Amino acid sequence: MDKKRALITGITGMDGSHLADFLLSKGYIVFGMERRSSQKNRENTKLLEGNSNFTFLNGDLSDQNSILRVLKISKPNEVYNLGAQSFVSESWNTPEQTANITGLGALRVLEAIREYGEDIKYYQASTSEMFGNMKGVANEHTIFNPRSPYGVAKLYGHWITKNYRESYNMFNVSGILFNHESERRGIEFVTRKITDGVARIKHGLQDNIILGNLETSRDWGYAPDYVESMWMMLQQDKPNDYVIATGQTHELRDFLSIAFEKIGISNWEKYILQDKKFMRPADVYYLKGDATKAKHNLDWKPKTSFEEMISIMVDNDIRKLNK
Ligand code: NAP
Repeated sequence: MDKKRALITGITGMDGSHLADFLLSKGYIVFGMERRSSQKNRENTKLLEGNSNFTFLNGDLSDQNSILRVLKISKPNEVYNLGAQSFVSESWNTPEQTANITGLGALRVLEAIREYGEDIKYYQASTSEMFGNMKGVANEHTIFNPRSPYGVAKLYGHWITKNYRESYNMFNVSGILFNHESERRGIEFVTRKITDGVARIKHGLQDNIILGNLETSRDWGYAPDYVESMWMMLQQDKPNDYVIATGQTHELRDFLSIAFEKIGISNWEKYILQDKKFMRPADVYYLKGDATKAKHNLDWKPKTSFEEMISIMVDNDIRKLNK
């Protein structure tokens, strides 16, 4: 039997690189779309270079023809649209660019698939940020109320994915993923900023970590567990949208406490400074997801605990500095 082929946009990011590792382990031929930059960002994808079942292709979510070209070369059975301007805080700084890449980028991929004309299963990376300030637990029926230009742009991507499914009978799914992290998280994201900061404090390279709002609670999972759910959604007979979450919410303070504990510090507050510049104009204070539908239909459940995830991240940052 021919090997399945997958195209991933956002290959250089956290999820893109973990998903490529996962699909290669399943015997896929994988193509990763990467945008041109003066300095390549291959930190997360080092292990993919030289793998004969993996190919980088140049394309940009702001450039319709480049996406069509990438589809024609890769001839995929499955497309995972993970590319985005994904940093929520930055979306107030560059709202138009965020809308263009994170929102219209999804439309461009869907249009390219239509133009290409083959049956392709499409995964859209939707997000819990579309719920905004929620109460209780969110599932697939919870009303959306995004609180950032990023959340608004993602909601466009979410709805256009559903609309094209209904309009053109396409196999399109949206995974509404709650926060997930890993040792490959971008350094500007708060969780990685903390684990990197903790590692630096341990090595005496830094005295404190400067953060924004500490009063946030998130439903945090481990990225390698979450990318598996993306693949599972595309293996179903019918396209459907799914919430992916652990169902447990932790305060940022819990994250800090566990991360500092790893280096033997219990009075972590002493090492934290706050700066208004890291606070969002409108924040989301609490997120918690209900993944019952995914558990039931996909047999998906998170494997890695909150504590294990933080431990992996801190250990990795300490190891990096040791090198
Ligand atoms: P990430 O690490 O920030 O990766 C984003 C990727 O998008 C990078 O590879 C980036 O490439 C690429 N990209 C940016 N602009 C692009 C453009 N114009 N054309 C093509 N590619 C472009 O994000 P992530 O955490 O892996 O998340 C993956 C997806 O899931 C994103 O869509 C994110 O919004 C969504 N999501 C994430 C979470 C989470 O908690 N991590 C939760 C829900 C949903 P460069 O390296 O060139 O910048």
